[in-house]
Amino acid sequence: MINIRTGVGTDVHVLTAGRPMVLAGLAFPDEPYGPVGHSDGDVVAHAACDALLSAAGLGDLGSNYGTSDPEWSGASGVRFLTETARRVRAAGWEIGNVAVQVIGNRPRIGPRRAAAELIMSEAIDAPVSLSATTTDGLGLTGRGEGIAAIATALVQQD
Ligand code: MG
Repeated sequence: MINIRTGVGTDVHVLTAGRPMVLAGLAFPDEPYGPVGHSDGDVVAHAACDALLSAAGLGDLGSNYGTSDPEWSGASGVRFLTETARRVRAAGWEIGNVAVQVIGNRPRIGPRRAAAELIMSEAIDAPVSLSATTTDGLGLTGRGEGIAAIATALVQQD
């Protein structure tokens, strides 16, 4: 019998003027605001990693890559994705898919969706889909104070 598990992950970063906007491993150089964080603040990649770790029962980003660990301070979202997929597979799981939804006013995802899905799918060697929504002007993402992402992942083993 196939053992299938799902996982969930979320991430939020504060946005501030003059920081580079990186989402799903892609730079958005025209964006005036970018995320604050120990790393590049890539909420899409971070939520995806948390979902994968959650599905595999391997904890979360914080327990796997402590923010005080210099090896992971400033690491790119793609690097986290690659290493997380390696750890999930090392624990005996195949990765089915990951779905991520980014929540925020900017940047517009649609024109870069295919590129974002490709870079993340290649990073984990499994399908990743990316969607986007806004909160109708409400809350921290609606006011533009931050950007958020929520993700699910499916893993399985025989
Ligand atoms: Mg993060």
